[in-house]
Amino acid sequence: DPACAEPLPVLGRDVTVPLVTGGEVTYAALDYAASAPALQRVWDDVAAYAPYYGSVHRGAGYLSQLSTDLFEQSRATVAEFLDCRPGDQVVFTRSTTDSLNLLAAALPAGCQVFVFETEHHASLLPWTNAQVTYLNAPRTPAQAVATLERALADRDPYGPALVCVTGASNVTGELWPVKELAAAAHAHGARIVLDAAQLAPHHPLSVRDLGVDWVAFSGHKLYAPFGSGVLAGRADWLQEAEPYLAGGGASRKVARREDGGVDIEWHTTAARHEAGSPNVIGVYSIASACRALKEAGFENLVARENRLIARVREGLADVPAVRVLSLFGDDAPRVGVISFVVDGWNSSHFAAALSAEYGIGVRDGLFCAHPLVRTLLGSEPQEPGECGAPEAAPGERSLNAIRVSFGAGTPDEHVERFLRAVK
Ligand code: PMP
Repeated sequence: DPACAEPLPVLGRDVTVPLVTGGEVTYAALDYAASAPALQRVWDDVAAYAPYYGSVHRGAGYLSQLSTDLFEQSRATVAEFLDCRPGDQVVFTRSTTDSLNLLAAALPAGCQVFVFETEHHASLLPWTNAQVTYLNAPRTPAQAVATLERALADRDPYGPALVCVTGASNVTGELWPVKELAAAAHAHGARIVLDAAQLAPHHPLSVRDLGVDWVAFSGHKLYAPFGSGVLAGRADWLQEAEPYLAGGGASRKVARREDGGVDIEWHTTAARHEAGSPNVIGVYSIASACRALKEAGFENLVARENRLIARVREGLADVPAVRVLSLFGDDAPRVGVISFVVDGWNSSHFAAALSAEYGIGVRDGLFCAHPLVRTLLGSEPQEPGECGAPEAAPGERSLNAIRVSFGAGTPDEHVERFLRAVK
């Protein structure tokens, strides 16, 4: 039964942490939505490659050629993992935030952007070059599509437009109707970028089938924590834009002009936006994670994760003081990301107690999605530091939330310990 399969081996399984109550316990990493542990397989691949590390696209030596090959093969592996279309480009970046900022910098002049207020700040905020329409939080997936359609129907149909939407919420874990939103965007002549930071680690993802124009994700949430991310999709806007970074590798030809200036010819491949020596270890680790997840079989990973999700939701439902946050309701399909508040508890203190008394690592705060968490809490939380937790006295009403998140490496014991601790 794939739902009962063993978790994939990850680093940190044997790490022990001290408890305030005395003694120590193995660490239960239940904060995959922030950063997932590295897959053992990714670590092994990186370790096997590391002695052969060399410069990419910048050397004639054997190790440089090898590194260049691995870098470009990794691009092909990622394109295959995402089921890209012919002509799509895979640009390597530092993270989802970096990918979306790259796309924001490449928007054509006069572009309108449509984004739900429920987005993570990385997809809510980069569009400072554009005229942005913020859409109200929908309460069903169908309402999301209707809201977008209404907003797009009012726009100038001849100007460029982009919709940015998350595939799975980093707060509720709920899946968004990406395929339907993409169809709505295209029906109104707009394009769409998918923030797959939380979707890619949990579900198979087909750019072709979803019909999205671009997709962005981060290696460190995909079990490859070595500092790389991806922006993949249509080449045209990317290649018509100025390079995201100017420098070596992005330029094909640079020559002084007679008038004393400089003529620059930029690449029209992904390299246009990858100036500087690339993070080949990070990129290779993403490709390794893509291979490992495909080999493990997403159908198996999803079956197992769905069992853990059901167990956590059931266990939390048994505790009357717990309120699980949800936009789309109990039946919505979701990934292993669950946020909740506990009556009579300050969420920061609750999360601190999970760590100090049980060795469980979760996250508390507003999860870089302030408008969404405010909507879900139905209150105005006190201003926190960026992404952080507001201060409140013990016993005060919850001003922020607690998030538990898990994935392919999570053993049942972590989930059971968490539920015992909450109880
Ligand atoms: N989008 C979503 C939905 C996320 O959950 C995150 C990370 N929390 C990001 C974007 C940003 O990812 P990164 O910090 O890797 O840039």
